[in-house]
Amino acid sequence: MRLKIVARPSPNFNERPAGVTPSILVLHYTGMPTAEGAMALLTDPDAPKRVSAHYTLDEDGTFYAHVPEHLRAWHAGISWWRGGDDVNSRSIGIEIVNPGHEWGYRPFPRKQIDALIALGKDIVARHGIAPQNVIGHSDVAPGRKIDPGELFPWRRLAGHGLGIWPARGKAAVPDDPAHLAAALRRIGYGVPGEVATPLPAVLKEFQRHWRPGLVDGQADLETRQRLHAVARAA
Ligand SMILES: [Zn+2]
Repeated sequence: MRLKIVARPSPNFNERPAGVTPSILVLHYTGMPTAEGAMALLTDPDAPKRVSAHYTLDEDGTFYAHVPEHLRAWHAGISWWRGGDDVNSRSIGIEIVNPGHEWGYRPFPRKQIDALIALGKDIVARHGIAPQNVIGHSDVAPGRKIDPGELFPWRRLAGHGLGIWPARGKAAVPDDPAHLAAALRRIGYGVPGEVATPLPAVLKEFQRHWRPGLVDGQADLETRQRLHAVARAA
Protein backbone atom coordinates (compact mmCIF):
# COMPACT_ATOMS: atom_id res chain seq x y z
CA MET A 1 0.00 0.00 0.00
CA ARG A 2 0.99 3.61 -0.53
CA LEU A 3 1.90 5.38 2.69
CA LYS A 4 0.63 8.88 3.26
CA ILE A 5 2.98 10.78 5.60
CA VAL A 6 2.38 14.46 6.31
CA ALA A 7 5.02 16.61 8.05
CA ARG A 8 3.82 18.12 11.32
CA PRO A 9 7.00 18.84 13.29
CA SER A 10 7.13 18.89 17.07
CA PRO A 11 9.77 20.82 19.07
CA ASN A 12 9.48 18.26 21.88
CA PHE A 13 12.55 16.06 21.42
CA ASN A 14 16.24 15.79 22.24
CA GLU A 15 19.25 13.76 21.09
CA ARG A 16 19.46 10.06 21.85
CA PRO A 17 22.42 9.17 24.11
CA ALA A 18 25.64 8.63 22.14
CA GLY A 19 25.74 5.23 20.49
CA VAL A 20 22.11 4.37 21.28
CA THR A 21 19.86 3.40 18.37
CA PRO A 22 16.20 2.37 18.42
CA SER A 23 15.64 -1.29 19.38
CA ILE A 24 12.01 -1.01 20.51
CA LEU A 25 8.81 0.10 18.75
CA VAL A 26 6.22 1.40 21.25
CA LEU A 27 2.59 1.68 20.17
CA HIS A 28 0.16 4.02 21.93
CA TYR A 29 -3.33 5.30 21.52
CA THR A 30 -3.85 9.05 21.71
CA GLY A 31 -6.60 8.83 24.36
CA MET A 32 -8.08 12.21 23.49
CA PRO A 33 -11.47 13.18 22.01
CA THR A 34 -10.02 14.23 18.64
CA ALA A 35 -6.94 13.63 16.51
CA GLU A 36 -6.44 17.38 16.19
CA GLY A 37 -6.42 17.84 19.96
CA ALA A 38 -3.88 15.06 20.36
CA MET A 39 -1.56 16.50 17.73
CA ALA A 40 -1.87 20.00 19.17
CA LEU A 41 -0.59 18.60 22.48
CA LEU A 42 2.16 16.48 20.87
CA THR A 43 3.57 19.56 19.14
CA ASP A 44 3.05 22.10 21.96
CA PRO A 45 6.28 23.57 23.41
CA ASP A 46 4.30 25.27 26.21
CA ALA A 47 2.33 22.28 27.52
CA PRO A 48 2.65 21.80 31.32
CA LYS A 49 4.19 18.41 30.53
CA ARG A 50 5.86 18.48 27.12
CA VAL A 51 5.24 15.31 25.13
CA SER A 52 5.67 14.02 21.59
CA ALA A 53 5.97 10.90 19.47
CA HIS A 54 7.70 10.16 16.21
CA TYR A 55 4.36 9.73 14.45
CA THR A 56 0.63 10.07 14.91
CA LEU A 57 -1.52 7.71 12.83
CA ASP A 58 -5.02 8.97 12.11
CA GLU A 59 -8.02 6.68 11.70
CA ASP A 60 -8.01 7.16 7.90
CA GLY A 61 -4.46 5.76 7.66
CA THR A 62 -2.62 9.09 7.33
CA PHE A 63 0.61 9.44 9.30
CA TYR A 64 1.76 12.76 10.74
CA ALA A 65 5.53 12.90 11.28
CA HIS A 66 6.50 14.87 14.39
CA VAL A 67 10.09 13.89 15.26
CA PRO A 68 12.76 12.33 12.97
CA GLU A 69 13.43 8.72 13.92
CA HIS A 70 17.07 9.29 14.85
CA LEU A 71 16.03 11.73 17.59
CA ARG A 72 14.53 10.99 21.02
CA ALA A 73 10.79 11.71 21.21
CA TRP A 74 9.02 11.98 24.56
CA HIS A 75 6.26 9.38 24.54
CA ALA A 76 6.96 6.62 27.07
CA GLY A 77 7.61 8.55 30.30
CA ILE A 78 8.62 6.51 33.34
CA SER A 79 9.15 3.11 31.79
CA TRP A 80 11.05 -0.17 31.79
CA TRP A 81 11.67 -2.84 29.17
CA ARG A 82 14.11 -5.74 28.91
CA GLY A 83 16.31 -4.83 31.82
CA GLY A 84 16.47 -1.07 31.49
CA ASP A 85 14.57 2.14 32.05
CA ASP A 86 14.39 5.23 29.80
CA VAL A 87 12.55 3.52 26.98
CA ASN A 88 12.40 6.85 25.10
CA SER A 89 16.13 6.71 24.43
CA ARG A 90 15.84 3.21 22.93
CA SER A 91 12.57 3.42 21.03
CA ILE A 92 10.40 4.80 18.28
CA GLY A 93 6.91 5.82 19.38
CA ILE A 94 3.71 5.86 17.32
CA GLU A 95 0.51 7.45 18.64
CA ILE A 96 -2.53 5.75 17.10
CA VAL A 97 -5.63 7.92 17.05
CA ASN A 98 -8.37 6.46 19.28
CA PRO A 99 -10.32 8.28 22.01
CA GLY A 100 -9.27 5.55 24.42
CA HIS A 101 -10.93 4.24 27.56
CA GLU A 102 -11.60 7.74 28.88
CA TRP A 103 -13.35 9.20 25.83
CA GLY A 104 -15.02 6.26 24.08
CA TYR A 105 -12.68 3.37 23.28
CA ARG A 106 -13.54 1.86 19.92
CA PRO A 107 -12.13 -0.71 17.49
CA PHE A 108 -9.21 0.42 15.36
CA PRO A 109 -10.36 0.80 11.71
CA ARG A 110 -8.93 -1.65 9.19
CA LYS A 111 -7.45 1.18 7.12
CA GLN A 112 -5.58 2.49 10.15
CA ILE A 113 -4.08 -0.90 10.97
CA ASP A 114 -3.16 -1.56 7.32
CA ALA A 115 -1.16 1.67 7.37
CA LEU A 116 0.41 0.80 10.73
CA ILE A 117 1.58 -2.55 9.37
CA ALA A 118 3.07 -0.90 6.29
CA LEU A 119 5.10 1.73 8.16
CA GLY A 120 5.81 -0.62 11.07
CA LYS A 121 7.43 -3.20 8.77
CA ASP A 122 9.53 -0.46 7.23
CA ILE A 123 10.65 0.85 10.64
CA VAL A 124 11.61 -2.54 12.08
CA ALA A 125 13.49 -3.46 8.90
CA ARG A 126 15.46 -0.22 8.79
CA HIS A 127 16.45 -0.34 12.48
CA GLY A 128 16.66 -4.11 12.93
CA ILE A 129 14.02 -4.11 15.68
CA ALA A 130 13.18 -7.64 16.87
CA PRO A 131 9.52 -8.77 16.81
CA GLN A 132 9.74 -9.29 20.60
CA ASN A 133 10.36 -5.57 20.98
CA VAL A 134 7.21 -4.37 19.21
CA ILE A 135 5.07 -3.61 22.24
CA GLY A 136 2.53 -1.29 23.81
CA HIS A 137 2.88 1.62 26.19
CA SER A 138 1.08 -0.56 28.75
CA ASP A 139 3.88 -3.14 28.48
CA VAL A 140 6.58 -0.65 29.45
CA ALA A 141 4.53 1.18 32.10
CA PRO A 142 2.17 -1.29 33.87
CA GLY A 143 0.07 0.26 36.62
CA ARG A 144 0.35 3.63 34.92
CA LYS A 145 -0.68 3.13 31.27
CA ILE A 146 -3.23 0.87 29.54
CA ASP A 147 -2.77 1.93 25.90
CA PRO A 148 -3.20 0.83 23.15
CA GLY A 149 -5.61 -1.43 25.05
CA GLU A 150 -7.36 -4.77 24.71
CA LEU A 151 -9.02 -3.95 21.37
CA PHE A 152 -5.66 -3.53 19.68
CA PRO A 153 -5.09 -6.25 17.04
CA TRP A 154 -1.76 -7.60 18.30
CA ARG A 155 -2.40 -10.99 16.75
CA ARG A 156 -2.85 -9.52 13.29
CA LEU A 157 0.32 -7.44 13.64
CA ALA A 158 2.31 -10.48 14.75
CA GLY A 159 1.31 -12.15 11.49
CA HIS A 160 3.39 -9.45 9.80
CA GLY A 161 6.42 -9.79 12.09
CA LEU A 162 5.35 -6.93 14.35
CA GLY A 163 5.25 -8.48 17.80
CA ILE A 164 4.88 -12.15 18.68
CA TRP A 165 1.78 -14.31 19.10
CA PRO A 166 2.78 -17.93 19.78
CA ALA A 167 0.12 -20.64 19.97
CA ARG A 168 -1.00 -21.58 23.47
CA GLY A 169 0.03 -25.08 24.51
CA LYS A 170 -0.85 -27.22 27.53
CA ALA A 171 2.27 -26.23 29.47
CA ALA A 172 1.75 -23.50 32.06
CA VAL A 173 3.93 -21.34 34.25
CA PRO A 174 3.58 -22.56 37.91
CA ASP A 175 1.24 -20.47 40.02
CA ASP A 176 3.72 -18.79 42.36
CA PRO A 177 5.15 -15.28 42.34
CA ALA A 178 8.75 -16.33 41.60
CA HIS A 179 7.85 -18.31 38.46
CA LEU A 180 5.34 -15.72 37.27
CA ALA A 181 7.88 -12.93 37.72
CA ALA A 182 10.62 -14.90 35.94
CA ALA A 183 8.37 -15.51 32.92
CA LEU A 184 7.21 -11.89 32.75
CA ARG A 185 10.80 -10.72 33.04
CA ARG A 186 11.89 -13.00 30.22
CA ILE A 187 9.27 -11.37 27.98
CA GLY A 188 10.70 -7.97 28.88
CA TYR A 189 8.45 -6.66 31.65
CA GLY A 190 9.91 -4.95 34.68
CA VAL A 191 9.12 -6.98 37.80
CA PRO A 192 9.39 -6.26 41.55
CA GLY A 193 13.05 -5.73 42.35
CA GLU A 194 13.48 -3.77 39.11
CA VAL A 195 10.37 -1.60 39.34
CA ALA A 196 7.96 -0.56 42.09
CA THR A 197 4.91 -1.98 40.27
CA PRO A 198 3.31 -4.95 42.09
CA LEU A 199 3.25 -8.27 40.22
CA PRO A 200 -0.58 -8.46 39.67
CA ALA A 201 -0.46 -5.07 37.92
CA VAL A 202 2.25 -6.38 35.58
CA LEU A 203 0.29 -9.58 34.97
CA LYS A 204 -2.76 -7.48 34.11
CA GLU A 205 -0.86 -5.72 31.32
CA PHE A 206 0.44 -9.06 30.05
CA GLN A 207 -3.22 -10.10 29.78
CA ARG A 208 -4.25 -6.88 28.05
CA HIS A 209 -1.72 -7.70 25.35
CA TRP A 210 -1.80 -11.51 25.09
CA ARG A 211 -5.11 -12.60 26.72
CA PRO A 212 -7.38 -9.62 26.04
CA GLY A 213 -10.64 -11.48 26.74
CA LEU A 214 -10.23 -11.15 30.51
CA VAL A 215 -7.91 -8.55 32.01
CA ASP A 216 -8.10 -8.99 35.77
CA GLY A 217 -4.55 -9.61 37.01
CA GLN A 218 -5.43 -13.15 38.16
CA ALA A 219 -2.99 -15.95 37.31
CA ASP A 220 -5.63 -18.35 35.96
CA LEU A 221 -4.66 -21.42 33.92
CA GLU A 222 -5.14 -19.82 30.50
CA THR A 223 -3.09 -16.80 31.53
CA ARG A 224 -0.30 -19.06 32.81
CA GLN A 225 -0.39 -21.12 29.60
CA ARG A 226 -0.17 -18.01 27.45
CA LEU A 227 2.58 -16.68 29.68
CA HIS A 228 4.52 -19.90 29.18
CA ALA A 229 4.14 -19.73 25.41
CA VAL A 230 5.07 -16.06 25.09
CA ALA A 231 8.06 -16.36 27.46
CA ARG A 232 9.39 -19.28 25.43
CA ALA A 233 9.07 -17.31 22.21
CA ALA A 234 10.52 -14.08 23.62
ZN1 LIG B 1 0.78 6.07 25.52
